[in-house]
Amino acid sequence: MNILVTGGAGFIGSALCRHLVEIGETVINVDKLTYAGNLASLRSVETRANYRFVNADICNEAALGELMRRESIDRVIHLAAETHVDRSIDGPAQFIETNIVGTFRLLQASLKYWRQLSEAAQRQFRFHHVSTDEVFGDLPFDDSTFNEQTPYAPSSPYSASKAASDHLVRAWHHTFGLPIVMSNCSNNYGPYHFPEKLIPLVLLNALDEKPLPVYGAGMNVRDWLYVEDHARALALIASQGTIGESYNIGGSCERSNLAVVQAICDILDSAKPRRNQKSYRDLICFVADRPGHDRRYAMDTTKIESELGWKPQESFETGLSQTIAWYLDNEWWWRPIRDGAYAGARLGRLAAVQ
Ligand code: NAD
Repeated sequence: MNILVTGGAGFIGSALCRHLVEIGETVINVDKLTYAGNLASLRSVETRANYRFVNADICNEAALGELMRRESIDRVIHLAAETHVDRSIDGPAQFIETNIVGTFRLLQASLKYWRQLSEAAQRQFRFHHVSTDEVFGDLPFDDSTFNEQTPYAPSSPYSASKAASDHLVRAWHHTFGLPIVMSNCSNNYGPYHFPEKLIPLVLLNALDEKPLPVYGAGMNVRDWLYVEDHARALALIASQGTIGESYNIGGSCERSNLAVVQAICDILDSAKPRRNQKSYRDLICFVADRPGHDRRYAMDTTKIESELGWKPQESFETGLSQTIAWYLDNEWWWRPIRDGAYAGARLGRLAAVQ
């Protein structure tokens, strides 16, 4: 298969590219290389014959259409997006532009391309849209979960823009017949994660002996999935998911933010003890909460498990240990980011202090 991956220089996109290349697919990675895009994450596959990178913006419909024709694309897996909730509070415009307008442009390019394929190629083609559990809003602190029928109720500019893009993708299927599949996934973590997100931020702050910021009382709950488990799920859905359907993906690993930060401290205490012999937990500090902070997310993953036979391979404990070991061994990847693009400053607080 010739697979066009958008956003393949990002955290999940690069894990997906690495996985697809390993299983023998041909990958054309299209990425605009925003602050979050990093070709260093693709070092292990960049010289492989079945991998190519194209620097392009998903808003450029003509360039994308031309690329699809030139590369005889069989599948599009769409991950390119602005993804950080805190940045969507500080500056929502880019989220509307990339996540909504960009998805619209990509759908239009895909539809035009798909319409001129042979019947056999049309049957094979799929547009897989990658989305988030945040489109469903939040859950109370009980044992309820989101399933594929849960009504959309996004809370942040980020989740609202992703919800809008999900609706566009469904509409392009229902109205124009474009063969689509969709997935909504819970919080990912793992190697090559840009250090503005909770787990790598806390980990690298700890190594730098900086405060470990926890929003509010740290009681907000997220379901965590190891990124390589997500990549395996995406490859499966793109090839075997039923056209027109969406699939919820999650790790069934619910943890409060405070429990996540404490777990990182505890692993680091043995993996890389502080010079002063104290616990990294002493660096934890509580900061003003994120405006509109969703309380809890949790996924019902029955559909993907029963229909496609997917299950996560990593528990939160095994995945977190591997992640921490990776950051300890790969300073070459994260040090330039900490010293340049993003040193760990608090984002998304404007509304909270106004
Ligand atoms: P990321 O921020 O790490 O990467 C996004 C990538 O998209 C970057 O490489 C960036 O350069 C690229 N990009 C941004 N705008 C672009 C444009 N206009 N044209 C081309 N490329 C552009 O994101 P991520 O965490 O890897 O998330 C990938 C996808 O998965 C997103 O759609 C996100 O909504 C979804 N998702 C993420 C999570 C998570 O926990 N990170 C969970 C569920 C779903």
